Amino acid sequence: MTSPALSLPTYENVADAARRLQGVAHRTPVLRSNTADEMLGAQLFFKCENLQRMGAFKFRGAYNALSRFSGEQRERGVLAFSSGNHAQAIALSARLLDMPAVILMPEDAPASKMAATREYGAQVVTYNRFTEDREAISRRLATERGMTLVPPFDHPDVIAGQGTAAKELLEEVPELDYLFVCLGGGGLLSGSLLSAKALAPQCRVYGVEPETGNDVQQSLHAGHIVQIPTPHTIADGAQTQAPGQYTFPIIQRDVTDVLTVSDEELVRALRFFAERMKIVVEPTGALAFAGARHGNVNLRGARVGIIISGGNVDLTRYARFLAD
Ligand SMILES: *Cc1c(COP(=O)(O)O)cnc(C)c1O
Repeated sequence: MTSPALSLPTYENVADAARRLQGVAHRTPVLRSNTADEMLGAQLFFKCENLQRMGAFKFRGAYNALSRFSGEQRERGVLAFSSGNHAQAIALSARLLDMPAVILMPEDAPASKMAATREYGAQVVTYNRFTEDREAISRRLATERGMTLVPPFDHPDVIAGQGTAAKELLEEVPELDYLFVCLGGGGLLSGSLLSAKALAPQCRVYGVEPETGNDVQQSLHAGHIVQIPTPHTIADGAQTQAPGQYTFPIIQRDVTDVLTVSDEELVRALRFFAERMKIVVEPTGALAFAGARHGNVNLRGARVGIIISGGNVDLTRYARFLAD
């Protein structure tokens, strides 16, 4: 149910975002693995956003959105609600652009995430997830302090920023046959689709969601946005309940398909990354690779791009995944 009045972002917006991010975001490496190539019978190219600033691609969208604020908006600052990577992305971007940031987090959010967000200089305001409505609190804060709310995925500037990761990958590795993208609310996927359609129109693009959190897959089947209960999955960056008003129409228009993977398959992927590629990846960051490996798409002989979306995982939790 998208309003026809919405103006969707385009590849031009991604190209503009890339200029704003130049020299600010890392141009992350593209890694290869002979073992992965042999396992899938394909040539795989891993775009490592786990090595992005603050540990995830979310820095791209947050910084792009904040750098488009007016002088007045900058003075009053930015507001976000998140207990995950979006919080740290907004906090770091606000510090770089020298503006105040308030992050609304559930009071039971991991202490390490709150500490990291504070270290980037943001003010953390906590609320009770079970008794308080975070949207009402954030609206009140926005009204009282005149701060601008930046959502984690459903915003044209956020989508455009996220699209710069796929843009870099496609410029570095032309003629990809397939691209697999981790999928929560669809900011990364819709941005990647804008880049893929412009730079590699023949490339088939798949989004990969957790099996229990297949809100985008259900929405595609229904032909409109479907809302699901908060899913239980170890992919905590993809526990979204529905795709957005901006992300869904782009996904609906341009995606090849959306696949799902189980938590067990994510754990296997984390182990593969640690053991074979020597990189730390968070569960959500492994969705794309797990989808390429287990998603029943025939990749034999193909050139396949995989976006590893992030690497922020509590070490105790990570050790448990590796040891189980
Ligand atoms: C937020 C996030 C995602 C999902 O991104 P969307 O734009 O919501 O689809 C995937 N991986 C990581 C590491 C994230 O932080």
